[in-house]
Amino acid sequence: MKGHLIIISSPSGGGKGTLIKEVLERVPNLGYSVSLTTRAPRFGEEDGRHYHFVSKEEFQDEIENDGFLEYAEVHENLYGTAKSQIDRITAGGRDVILEIDVQGAEAVMRSVPDAVSIFILPPSYETLRARLTARATEKPNDLDVRLRNSLFEVSRYSLFKYVIINDEVHSAAAKLASVIVAERQLRNRQSESIQGILDSFERSNV
Ligand code: 5GP
Repeated sequence: MKGHLIIISSPSGGGKGTLIKEVLERVPNLGYSVSLTTRAPRFGEEDGRHYHFVSKEEFQDEIENDGFLEYAEVHENLYGTAKSQIDRITAGGRDVILEIDVQGAEAVMRSVPDAVSIFILPPSYETLRARLTARATEKPNDLDVRLRNSLFEVSRYSLFKYVIINDEVHSAAAKLASVIVAERQLRNRQSESIQGILDSFERSNV
């Protein structure tokens, strides 16, 4: 059986990276889609693990080859989800997390209606600003762009099926894991297994 898509969005600094890391350790049969981006790597980021860092030309080639499930310009850089990667992970039966912005999330919701959508909301603007500033990964200019975009991003929360308020990372990670595990119990996501069980009853001729 093919795995499902789990879309996770939040404004920059919403803390989704830490949550996702914890959930990947807790929940079995879960993969992570490593996006392509034209953004320069931050200190400590590894090519192929955090992102596939590519040039604008390479990104453009991927668009022309119809290689993206979705792509968007976010905070003045390009980011995209490669179809090949999603297919590889889900073909093995694993669900896949797409950590993408709200524009990409809308595009995936349109093309894959049964994708699970989850929005991570920071507890307040002040917390978001404090987290982004403390992280110190952006130049002052880029930090301003991210803070300015955050109002638009949080205002899109209502498109998502679930909202998790990230006030404390471990409890938010537990909630995120619960959503993913609960979604797996939906009747229509288990039709093959259920049918197998029912067949065993029929074979027994009770
Ligand atoms: P960052 O530069 O902080 O790693 O990411 C900036 C934003 O781009 C975040 O909101 C992140 O979720 C989003 N993003 C990362 N990968 C993708 C992608 O493949 N597609 C889209 N649409 N957004 C992405």
